[in-house]
Order: sequence, then structure tokens, then C-alpha cells
Amino acid sequence: MNDRFVVVGAGTMGLGIAYVAAGAGFAVDLVEVDPGRAEAATERLDGLWARAVERGRTTADQASSARDRLTLRAGLDQVGAGPQVIVEAVPERPDLKRSVLRAAEELAPALLGTNTSSIPIGELAGGLARPDRFLGLHFFNPVWTMALLEIVVGPATAPETTDAAVALAGRLGKDPVVVRDLPGFATSRLGVTLGLEAIRMVADGVASPADIDKAMVLGYRHPVGPLELTDLVGLDVRLDIARTLQAAYGDRFAPPPLLLEMVAQGRLGKKSGQGFYRWEGGVKQ
Ligand code: NAD
Repeated sequence: MNDRFVVVGAGTMGLGIAYVAAGAGFAVDLVEVDPGRAEAATERLDGLWARAVERGRTTADQASSARDRLTLRAGLDQVGAGPQVIVEAVPERPDLKRSVLRAAEELAPALLGTNTSSIPIGELAGGLARPDRFLGLHFFNPVWTMALLEIVVGPATAPETTDAAVALAGRLGKDPVVVRDLPGFATSRLGVTLGLEAIRMVADGVASPADIDKAMVLGYRHPVGPLELTDLVGLDVRLDIARTLQAAYGDRFAPPPLLLEMVAQGRLGKKSGQGFYRWEGGVKQ
């Protein structure tokens, strides 16, 4: 296995994947087309390393080497060919993902992964020359904390690609599940169901967001309630996933009007400072 790892998209997920890969010893190229997002990602990454050192999870030397292994790039054309892995983490839009994946494939990675939460791998593999090397590598937010890696095997994925993905999970310190290629896979289908119903319950006035969340945390032992989780994931991201699942499974995944309204108002959750909760400096108020 060579040691080059490319991540496309430096948003919530891409920067987390890049952080974990650099920490695992990979030389990471993190590609971000939006200069503002690239700058924000650099700041966030510096903050993550500083906090890891403060909390004794890594030494200052290890953090500084990991940081030196990670380079922000403005486009895939600035990345050398032949990396071990490319993970696409751009927004949940099939056309955008397909075009990014086609461009990524030109770099001939041994393993090409998508971090999609809900789009079938077979659908994204359509325009690829080597769909046998392609699969879903679905990381969870925040990537540095969450142990799960959901590996989604597409219709053309070769068994050795799945094996390589399982080995990669081990190197990144993740615990994998291997799942079949159906929209929403094993996790998003169930997680989004809960999130959408919680939003409908807010609209119905069943209880406050804080009490709906508290009910699931204390009553069902969920580590975090469905509305806070929606704030963490991003309301826009959940809306995109709901639309994909609605197209696949029908109106039980129809986005609730309150979700559409909040996204239209820019209330996207933690990343915008306001969602079902108010967030300041990344902390729920
Ligand atoms: P995001 O909007 O925070 O980040 C996406 C980034 O990709 C943005 O910075 C955007 O500028 C960048 N981008 C867009 N086009 C690009 C291009 N052509 N080249 C390079 N960068 C480009 O989104 P996110 O929350 O990080 O989600 C990314 C993917 O991960 C989505 O498919 C989402 O469904 C999935 N996902 C999200 C979560 C979550 O909790 N947010 C969890 C698991 C999976």
C-alpha cells in the first residue's frame, strides 16, 4: 500500500477524513475549490491538532508531523497521479459527484471511494472506466471520534476492492460494516427516518427540540438526540439525503415543510450558527 491519500471537498466530512488519514501516516492532498472553505478548513484543522495535543491524545511532534503531511489543493489538477486512495466528499448531488469521480479516476487511484450518505454506488459508478475499484466509504461525523466506517459494495465492485477497504478501515482506526448497495445503506435510511419524524414533531408542537432530544437520550440511550444530530450533520445535507430517499422509497421520506423552511432561511445547524439550537464557536448554547 503506498501512502498517498486524496480527499475531495474540505467541508464537514472531507476535513475530518483528511485529519484522520494524516494522523494515520498518509500523505494527504485535501482538494477544495472554494477558497473561503479552504481557509476555514485550515483553521479548523489547526484547531483540531491543537486540541488533541492539549488533551494529551497526541504529542506536539506527532501533531506537527501529521499537519506537515496534509496539503490543501485548489483542484484535482494539482494532485499527482497514482494515489492509494481517493475519497470524494463533495455535496450530496449525483451530477456533481459523478463529475468529480470521473476526474478523480483519471489519477488512477488503487481505491476510489465516495462518502455519499444515500446515493446508490451503482448510480455513481455509471460513467467510470474502472467501477471495479469503486465503492462507498461512508464515514461518520465527527470522523475523528466515530468508530464506524460503512463500506458499501456496488454492483461492479471487485472483491479485492472490498478487502482493500476493510484493510484501510483498520489502518484508519475504524471498525467497518460491509453493506449492500441500496439507497440510504444501513445507517442513513434509519437515521434520517428518525430525524425527519423528530422535525415533524417539532412542527406539531409535541415538545421543544431540547425535550424531544432528551426523551431519546434518556429514554432510549441514544448518545445524542435526533434534532441535535440534524444540527451536527447540517440541515441542507439531511435535506439532500431525504430527497434521494424520497425518490427511492416514496413519500415516507418527503422532507417536512419545517426543514425546507429552515434550509431556505440558511438555518443549517452548527455550521451556520443556528438550527434547532443556537451554536457559538461550535458549542451548543
Ligand atoms: P459540506 O457542504 O460541508 O462540504 C462539501 C465541500 O465540497 C464544500 O466545502 C464544497 O466547497 C466542496 N466542493 C464542492 N464541489 C467541489 C469540487 N468539485 N471539488 C472540490 N471540492 C468541492 O458537505 P459535508 O457535510 O462534508 O458532506 C459531504 C458528503 O459527505 C455528502 O455526500 C454527505 O452526504 C456525506 N456525509 C455527510 C455527513 C455529515 O454529517 N455532514 C456524514 C456522512 C456523510
